[in-house]
Amino acid sequence: MKNEKALVVFSGGQDSTTCLIWAKKEFKEVEAVTFNYGQRHSEELVCASEIANELEVPHHVLDMSLLNQLAPSALTRNEEITEKEGELPSTFVPGRNLLFLSFAGVLAKNIGAMHIVTGVCETDFSGYPDCRDMFVKSFNVTFNLAMDEGYVVHTPLMWLDKEATWKWADEMGMLQYVREKTLTCYNGIRGDGCGTCPSCKLRSKGLTAYLSSKDGGAKL
Ligand code: ZN
Repeated sequence: MKNEKALVVFSGGQDSTTCLIWAKKEFKEVEAVTFNYGQRHSEELVCASEIANELEVPHHVLDMSLLNQLAPSALTRNEEITEKEGELPSTFVPGRNLLFLSFAGVLAKNIGAMHIVTGVCETDFSGYPDCRDMFVKSFNVTFNLAMDEGYVVHTPLMWLDKEATWKWADEMGMLQYVREKTLTCYNGIRGDGCGTCPSCKLRSKGLTAYLSSKDGGAKL
C-alpha cells in the first residue's frame, strides 16, 4: 500500500490521530477529513487543524451542520452528557458514522484515494451500531457497488481497547504527541482533559493501565 493514497476520517481525538500517524507510515499519500457539525467545542476543529498541519497532512473540513437538523444530540447542545446502564449514551446521533463514511467516501473518490481509514472501535463499544465491524464491512461492499470501484475501508482500532491503542501509539514513537495534542474530552480540554467526563475516564484508565504494564508494575 506504500504507493497508494488514503483518506483518514479525523476528529483530532486520540483514536483518529493514532490512525492518522499509522496511515502516514502505511501509505504514500495521506489526506484527512474532519466533520464540522457544530461540536460543543470549536476547539475540536482547531485541534484537528493543528495536528493535520503539524503532521503535514492536507486537511478537509466538511460542513455537516445539517446533522443538527436531523437529530440534535448532547454533543452539540449545551447539556450534561449522561451514560446510563443499558442505554445508548446521550451523545448518540443515529446513523452518524454511516453519514460520515459516505461523505468521506465521496471525498476519497474526488481526491483519488482508494483507501479510507476510520478509528471506529467495537472494544470500547458504547452502543453505536454503525461503528461495529459488521457494519463497516457491509458499508465497504455497498460503497464499492455505488462507485463501481474497489475501495478499502480500514479500521485498525476495531479490536483494540484504549490500553492497546496507547501501546500502539507508543510503538510508533508518538505516545507523548498523542497524549499532549489530542482532544477527546467532552469539556473541550486538550491532553489529559478534565479528568471527570466519561471520555476522559476511559482515556485515562487505558493510559494508566498501559503505563503501569509497561513499567512492569501492577495494573490498576
Ligand atoms: Zn473530560
